Amino acid sequence: MNLDSTTKRRLIAAAVETIKAHAEELTELDRAIGDGDHGLNMKRGFEAVLADAESLSEKPLSDFLKGVGTHLVMTIGGASGPLYGSLFLAMGKASADAPSDLAGAARVLAEGVDAVRKRGKSEAGEKTMLDVLVPVSKRLSEVAGAGAPSLQALAADLCAAADRWLESTRPMQATKGRASFLGERSVDHIDPGARSSQLLLHAVCEALARPAASAGRAA
Ligand code: ADP
Ligand code: MG
Repeated sequence: MNLDSTTKRRLIAAAVETIKAHAEELTELDRAIGDGDHGLNMKRGFEAVLADAESLSEKPLSDFLKGVGTHLVMTIGGASGPLYGSLFLAMGKASADAPSDLAGAARVLAEGVDAVRKRGKSEAGEKTMLDVLVPVSKRLSEVAGAGAPSLQALAADLCAAADRWLESTRPMQATKGRASFLGERSVDHIDPGARSSQLLLHAVCEALARPAASAGRAA
């Protein structure tokens, strides 16, 4: 499976843009149920990816994703650094022999999310990023098995669903990560890692689904 270098640059630009635009919000969410560093952590990680964007984008998709994962694991820190690092490293490994179609993309994401579950020793329902990542991955696999919608329709469907799964973390009580120390007081807050995962998904969908002709501005 591969993508051209322009698309890879657009993906990095879109991810960095959304993380920077929402860094303060991510920090606020983490201040409520954690230690208030998630926005800064994510911004540091994605700025490191941006600094290496030119060289990364020339690599085959597998090495591109592994390179992104390596930067994230080295610079984000906290709990989310190794988790996002594992996501991208495992997707990189899986993409080396995945077919360049929707089924291939679904398999790559599933491998990445599986690596997060293993690294975090966690499952969906524990008020973490997995509450967005797991159902998004499942939905992509289902859609891939059911036929081929347009990329635009698929992106809109996945992002709308991710918004609902993000909101589903609000009533949950955290049982993993720092928020779990709060017990019942973690209820009634959106999980910061779930928000960063939903933001990244939106960025990827928008970068991939936007017609190439109108993509110049962000390239
Ligand atoms: P830290 O909690 O070390 O300060 P961050 O603030 O950067 O790290 O990231 C917090 C986010 O990491 C949480 O909102 C949650 O989504 C995610 N997280 C923490 N622990 C786990 C885990 N065991 N499994 C999955 N996600 C986790
Ligand atoms: Mg934190």
